Amino acid sequence: MRIFISADMEGATGIVQWEQVDRPEPDYAFGRKMQLHDVKAVVSGALDAGADEVLVNDSHDYMINLLADELGFDSRVRLLSGSNKKFSMVHGFEGADAAFFVAYHAKAGTKHAILDHTMSSKSIFSVVLNGLEVGETGLNAAACAGEKIPVALVTGDAAVCAEARDLLGEGLVTACVKDAHSRTAANCLLPEESGRVLRKAAALAVERARSGASPIMDIGKGDFDLRVTFQNSFQCDRADKIPGTERMDGRTIRVTGGLMTDVIRWILALI
Ligand SMILES: [Zn+2]
Repeated sequence: MRIFISADMEGATGIVQWEQVDRPEPDYAFGRKMQLHDVKAVVSGALDAGADEVLVNDSHDYMINLLADELGFDSRVRLLSGSNKKFSMVHGFEGADAAFFVAYHAKAGTKHAILDHTMSSKSIFSVVLNGLEVGETGLNAAACAGEKIPVALVTGDAAVCAEARDLLGEGLVTACVKDAHSRTAANCLLPEESGRVLRKAAALAVERARSGASPIMDIGKGDFDLRVTFQNSFQCDRADKIPGTERMDGRTIRVTGGLMTDVIRWILALI
């Protein structure tokens, strides 16, 4: 069984503020440490349950947060490190039997969700895919669905876990490491406890995936309809220059197409 892990940072244990996930900030050292902590716990759980291969795709910002020498010494584990990847947060997912979304955050505009945003908090107000408002969990699950890959595990705060269960249903395993009281405050599990929770959840997720119980997002049939609403009309004016897009109103661009994996490429191009 091949497990693909998309590892973000905002949803990791103990992280509550931008300063902890932004590279130039002194507090970023803590963000890195906790992303690594959560990823290692999840990798251990996957291996406990007999995963044959685990590919970890660093999916946060410059995507060089996880360092190869810190991930342990298991020949079944690989790290996809570095930025500018064609499929971004799900790059490398082809051929996986199940995907895990680790340390994820809720979509832009979610109440009481740590650092809620969708791809870019500076440029994107909302994203609607086939009539459904989605965040990174939805966009990446849709890309996985395009390749018939189930999403077996989502970890992060209570808000992203709820968002993921709404989107993917009961077969999904979620692991909550904190409960947000605002966009930048949360009641957090301590690392020792969250490590246990994450490891157990990952093992359960592998077992569910093996039995065929992990969900594949329902993306409907036919062409996708993607609507991106920007924070302001200037950003939309710039995106409007890309041929093949359709301007819906002052802040919204619409794109359609056949390949679900192109949704990710479109979002990156529009940003
Ligand atoms: Zn991130």
